[in-house]
Amino acid sequence: MLTVLGEAERFGAICANRLEVIELVQEDGRAADVKVRDGETESEFTVRAENVVNATGVWADRIRPEELHSEAEVPTIRPSRGTHITLDRSDLPLVSGAIVPAGEGRSIFALPWLGRSLVGTTDNNYDGDVDHVQPAADDVEYLLDATNAFFGTSLTNSNLTGAYAGVRPLISTGDTRKSVDISRKAELYETSSGLITITGGKLTTWRRMAKMAVDRLAERDGRQAPCRTHEIPLGQAIDPQGLPRVEGVRDDAYGALASRYGHAAQKVLQTAGERGELAQPTVGELPDLLAEAPFSARHEQARSVGDVLLRRTRLGLLAARELCTPGSEAPLRVARAMGQELGWDERRVDAEVERFRQEARAEGICGPGEG
Ligand SMILES: Cc1cc2nc3c(=O)[nH]c(=O)nc-3n(C[C@H](O)[C@H](O)[C@H](O)COP(=O)(O)OP(=O)(O)OC[C@H]3O[C@@H](n4cnc5c(N)ncnc54)[C@H](O)[C@@H]3O)c2cc1C
Repeated sequence: MLTVLGEAERFGAICANRLEVIELVQEDGRAADVKVRDGETESEFTVRAENVVNATGVWADRIRPEELHSEAEVPTIRPSRGTHITLDRSDLPLVSGAIVPAGEGRSIFALPWLGRSLVGTTDNNYDGDVDHVQPAADDVEYLLDATNAFFGTSLTNSNLTGAYAGVRPLISTGDTRKSVDISRKAELYETSSGLITITGGKLTTWRRMAKMAVDRLAERDGRQAPCRTHEIPLGQAIDPQGLPRVEGVRDDAYGALASRYGHAAQKVLQTAGERGELAQPTVGELPDLLAEAPFSARHEQARSVGDVLLRRTRLGLLAARELCTPGSEAPLRVARAMGQELGWDERRVDAEVERFRQEARAEGICGPGEG
């Protein structure tokens, strides 16, 4: 996703993290501006827009709910929760992915992932808080039972290195007379203010969704603007062998950096070369470097420890229990490394570590009943 955003910037897009749209402002009945709240300063301001596209996933019907729900096609989001768990490779050594039977004709996946084994997912209706979706105890039990039955292991909750859940933005037509009410396809809605809402898609359909939205805008404006998204290459791969060696960086880190950042891995390594500690791993035996914290603050708009541990690297999901152990040094090291970029004093560093702990608890990444 960050590669897509980086590419969009190259074409002139302005990407702004932590700006929450809180209101659609209309002029003569047409969507003209959006009012946004800056999550860092809490200030509010208005962004002028010729067109407004609402692509907010599972949150899509929070913006203008009355307009969306009162007009012909009713895109009611019906969230479905999916839970994953991560395990130490020594507990579940996998060399390739496996489709694991999970009873009643259902199946789950078990995959080697970023130095761990990843098991998931579940797919259940969900009506809780969509801002912080926690892995449910019975979902974790279901995943462990299927894994143990298939691989002959005896894994329990105590073997988890982390867990996470999310909600899929499935769309209900609102028509209870229809036997198949839930769609897993992207839907585009244009409502009376001209607001375009696109939601309900998959990760794998993102280019098609972008095309649907932009083609509609071009058509509405009577413009000839053929879609070029399929011609645009994303990122630039790099051979880990070709990366410059930096003193202190472990051998296995080069492959991990090349896979996450492609060509930009060179810049991360440059950052790692600035101070000895930045060339060190962030947590335990996983290859992710502490340099990724300042790098993501500089180049990827990371603004919190959670941004780095949960949304730039995946350490919060792979080593959640280690990170949340009282006295764990890793969140503090990340906060200090970010703080040097963002001008945080020691008090702010402590506050950011505490904020991460709260976020980890809210997301339930240590698994049910932990953290
Ligand atoms: C457990 C699980 C497993 C999945 N597995 C797969 C899979 O294997 N393959 C696949 O293709 N898909 C999969 N999906 C589905 C996929 O993740 C989603 O369908 C996809 O992320 C939807 O993309 P989106 O851009 O519409 O929404 P999102 O990815 O949810 O993006 C919406 C964005 O809008 C932002 N936002 C929300 N409200 C506001 C606001 N008011 N102002 C500003 N920004 C706002 C949010 O912060 C978010 O960044 C899975 C989903 C889950 C939960």
